[in-house]
Amino acid sequence: MSLTKYKAKRKFSKTPEPEGKPTKKSSKKPIFVIHKHYASHLHWDLRLEIDRVLKSWAIPKEPPAEIGIKRLAIQVENHPIEYARFEGVIPKGQYGAGKVEIWDKGIYELKEKTKDKIEFILHGKKLKGNFILVKTSYGNKPEKSWLFMKV
Ligand code: MN
Repeated sequence: MSLTKYKAKRKFSKTPEPEGKPTKKSSKKPIFVIHKHYASHLHWDLRLEIDRVLKSWAIPKEPPAEIGIKRLAIQVENHPIEYARFEGVIPKGQYGAGKVEIWDKGIYELKEKTKDKIEFILHGKKLKGNFILVKTSYGNKPEKSWLFMKV
């Protein structure tokens, strides 16, 4: 899986974020991380290890720990696996400027994946249990819009 967009958006001489590369092997147990990102608009970034990169979605409101709350999740560029450990401050003027902290992380189990639906079990501290990402056309970026919810 490609990190071309990730690299194109960043100047690695100016941001502390990892430059990264796709890893050769998948983890035995795939990982997930949710970053809380104090960018120009506070949001949460859900990242799932899929095909040796972190597939990523930006979620404008706090991710749901309970059933019954749907969150819009905008798919963003793949991030390198090393990004799962990243915390720091992206300097002013750089892409995504602002503080990034890990909000939750752990392993996850993939249950089913199609082009418009991903079902998985999260084993985090805050998020535990069955979750789903399902494609939607809601919002102002319909081709990148998904809904994220606990099921
Ligand atoms: Mn972000």
